[in-house]
Amino acid sequence: MRLDLKLTGCRAITMDPARPAAHTIGIWQGRIAGLDEQIADLPAAETVDLGNAVVLPGFIDAHTHLAWNGRRSRTVDVTGLTAVAQVLERLSGAPGEGWIEASGYDPRIMDRPLTATALDSVSSGRPVYVADLSGHACVVNTVVLKQLPEITSDGWLTENEQLAARSLRLPHSIEEIITDLRESARQVLSEGVTMCAEAGIGAGLIASSPLEAAAYQRARLPIRVQLMVSATVLQPVAADAADGISRAIDLGLHTGFGDDMLSLGALKLWTDGGMIARTAALSEPYAGSDNTGQLADSEEAMRAAIIDGHHAGWQLAIHAIGDRAIDFTLDAVAEAQSQRSRPDSRHRIEHCGLVRPEQLERIAALGLIPVVQPTFLWSYGDDYSEIMGEKRAPWMYRGRSFLDHGITVAGSSDRPVADGAPLRAIEFMVRRRSSGGRAVGPDEAITVEEAIRAYTLGSAYACHKEHVLGSLTPGKLADLVVLGDDPRTSDAIADIPVLATMVGGTLIPQR
Ligand SMILES: [Zn+2]
Repeated sequence: MRLDLKLTGCRAITMDPARPAAHTIGIWQGRIAGLDEQIADLPAAETVDLGNAVVLPGFIDAHTHLAWNGRRSRTVDVTGLTAVAQVLERLSGAPGEGWIEASGYDPRIMDRPLTATALDSVSSGRPVYVADLSGHACVVNTVVLKQLPEITSDGWLTENEQLAARSLRLPHSIEEIITDLRESARQVLSEGVTMCAEAGIGAGLIASSPLEAAAYQRARLPIRVQLMVSATVLQPVAADAADGISRAIDLGLHTGFGDDMLSLGALKLWTDGGMIARTAALSEPYAGSDNTGQLADSEEAMRAAIIDGHHAGWQLAIHAIGDRAIDFTLDAVAEAQSQRSRPDSRHRIEHCGLVRPEQLERIAALGLIPVVQPTFLWSYGDDYSEIMGEKRAPWMYRGRSFLDHGITVAGSSDRPVADGAPLRAIEFMVRRRSSGGRAVGPDEAITVEEAIRAYTLGSAYACHKEHVLGSLTPGKLADLVVLGDDPRTSDAIADIPVLATMVGGTLIPQR
């Protein structure tokens, strides 16, 4: 046997407890053929000396938005702007015709709220759509509001109202989406990510087109992708009564369809909003207000989607950020499991942002997987700590208490909502310090190895891929990341250079 590639001079952290370290990695047919002495005598078509670089399994981002992220880079960027005048200046003279689109608006830092009237002054009669950071809100101008006569607003729209405005702009063409996906794939690879789970295609808050899956199929991206399908595309079906399936997507496809490069993942459902827009559903109000956020839909409709999706064979990825949304999710999943037990369904709670202490045991008992975004707290931890107040701030985006309850934690970014770099997230999980230097839930800190595990084996498990991904184990797919330093001993994990990534045995230099 001749290997395709032999990587020598590695300091590999394999994440495989049976063999935690290795210096040489043999690759054949896109898979890891063996480590060290297992392949020492085998010849190789090519040998690459990594010069003592650190090698980890490729990072898996279990919740990201590739199309939205790519699209953002084609819009006017107003990230970090604090004055309405600055936003207007950047929007004025936007090239092209038709919609003027901007992104990165942060109402929390503005000198005054941006309004439809203000946008009118620079729109030259074109429709204007300024998306906020979170994807849960936007500001539009009067041209857009006139097409939404049922909505009364000064321009600021959240959740379903925002969805109504966005649907005027949609769909994007398959070609446009492919361009956006390729841009995002380039970005994520440069940060060491070799697989992404796309969190909700086909319809809903962040969809691009009802034909979105076609764009992924045609794009042939250099990363692995798993597609979560928005639950709003479930349709009533006339299945045999013995199947017990009342709603499905066309052809009855569900979680697991596809191959190792592109597959169908979970069914994505939304039960509340987000903390940036103050729409995450809480059991007690946001600090200093009487606002408790909002559920995404009627409880009846959300419960029906959870139960129907469960019966139709889907893994569920349920967006729940506030503790009230998590209560609802726990009840609905328990009901679905009691109707038909699916022990390895691996239903997920996307974000799982605010978890009261007594909710931990229920999450564990139901086998739910929190898919957390540590960089939310790095970017927004100061603000979130204020709006949660002293008692609740330590309960946000937990780490230690999930692990102590035997819960699998999956790492993710929600890119482009927050910084997508896994090393930034891993640093936060270990240090629990916001970008402003504030300690956010320091008792939830986990070790570097546990944080790496969340972003490799943990997220692989959340995507039903741990048998082929997540560790450098002979037989698994050859996905890895080559780093300039060891995160276990580094003082600045987020700054460690990503030297190369590998997907399916193809080494892609990043520097
Ligand atoms: Zn998301």
